[in-house]
Amino acid sequence: MQEQLLHYVWRTGRFDQQRLATTTGQSVQVLKRGVYHGHAGPDFSGAHIRVGDTVWHGHVEMHIYASEWYRHRHHLDPAYDGTILHVVWEEDQAVFRQDGTRLPCVELRKRVDHRLLTRYERLIHDGNGIPCKYALHQVSDIIRKSMLDRVLVERLDRKADAVLATLGQQKEDWEETVWQYLATGFGIPSNQEPLAQVARSLPFRFLKKYAHDPLSVEALLFGQAGMLEGEFVEEYPLKLQREYRFLRRKHELPDPPSLRWNFLRLRPVSFPTLRLARLASVAVRQENLLANILVASTPQYWVHSLDAGIHPYWTRHYRFGVQAPASIKHLGDASSRSLVINVMAPLLFAYGRHRQESRYQEKALQFLEQIPAEQNRILDKWKPLPMPLKSGYDGQALLELQHLYCTPRRCLECAIGCQLIADIRRQEPTRVEDILANSLVPEWLAMMPKPEGPPPAIRSGNALRSLPAC
Ligand code: SF4
Repeated sequence: MQEQLLHYVWRTGRFDQQRLATTTGQSVQVLKRGVYHGHAGPDFSGAHIRVGDTVWHGHVEMHIYASEWYRHRHHLDPAYDGTILHVVWEEDQAVFRQDGTRLPCVELRKRVDHRLLTRYERLIHDGNGIPCKYALHQVSDIIRKSMLDRVLVERLDRKADAVLATLGQQKEDWEETVWQYLATGFGIPSNQEPLAQVARSLPFRFLKKYAHDPLSVEALLFGQAGMLEGEFVEEYPLKLQREYRFLRRKHELPDPPSLRWNFLRLRPVSFPTLRLARLASVAVRQENLLANILVASTPQYWVHSLDAGIHPYWTRHYRFGVQAPASIKHLGDASSRSLVINVMAPLLFAYGRHRQESRYQEKALQFLEQIPAEQNRILDKWKPLPMPLKSGYDGQALLELQHLYCTPRRCLECAIGCQLIADIRRQEPTRVEDILANSLVPEWLAMMPKPEGPPPAIRSGNALRSLPAC
């Protein structure tokens, strides 16, 4: 038995409520089970419970064993003073409030269908990182897709929070915010922080003054990255070094920050040298970063723009002074698409949320739907399973599902897990209304804390338009 199952049982009312009573024999009637909180403090708030003849309004706290009340030191925490009912699997110890009165306690161990416990145990112990993988095919299509819609919006909201935090640091300057976020994205997978520091030391409005002179922009970026400090013999790095020294004196630039660049276990096209060269190319070619993101009609515009040409030196080098086989060092479609998915779409979404213009949020979703999914080890595990995995939309949703639900085993907060536990497959409904009516999803939707922000993701043209917000 785990506490999260206890929460689920209470949240969904899946326990025998006939002749419910406290452990001291007082009758109990649950009028409102309250709202579940996944954070610190009592588990449910806003509950209405009749104990004997009195209706109480307040918190419900849950534990496997009643003695955990003391072990967790709730008796010393004023946040628990408003607790009106202690719901436990087993009362191994009586619990008293600060004023000496006994906290009413309800035991659930004889009131829960043990088949539900078995199904839960089976669910969370199966599946090598995706606990429900062997049962996923039993879940209706509409529930699987609705869960993906929900987690995609959660993911974009989380990323939008990060964008808007940067916007605050940049004093509401969207152009600088886009520059910072884009530079950080160029550092994916393992050089985000150093690239962010370089971008912070070189504001976009400053670089734009040199947009007519690519060598200056490259010198500034490589110089502030600390990559022009060595002794060079080749002409291109020598020119960059001279230019950087001149510009640094002219603008009294601070010393380059001390940065740890990672070249290990990266494909050469992901080396920070090539990413900086490409970032310089974007800074030179894109006069208005934000405007170009807002007006782009398809993600392909950015896929091509991000892969624009870089200095010919990089056809024979991956690092300064080290010769490499001649080749055109393209960023590659996969990397460009990854930037659109991880940078452009979140920026659009954040902008729409900040300006309260949902068309940009819709556009972010459309971009994700129009671009193929990324390829990585996590998504590879989902490929054989009955989940959509064609577009960036699907891929981002599955990554969020994996990281925030499957890996931490939050199956009881997942619509898919709720349907599996409820085991409604004996009579498989086919109509959307029946699926929703027969499953626990409506209760799950009603009980879960509402994510802040925009309405749920809408897959263009599919039936999910009619699903309630969750
Ligand atoms: S969180 Fe949901 S999708 Fe993930 S394993 Fe559990 S039930 Fe399956």
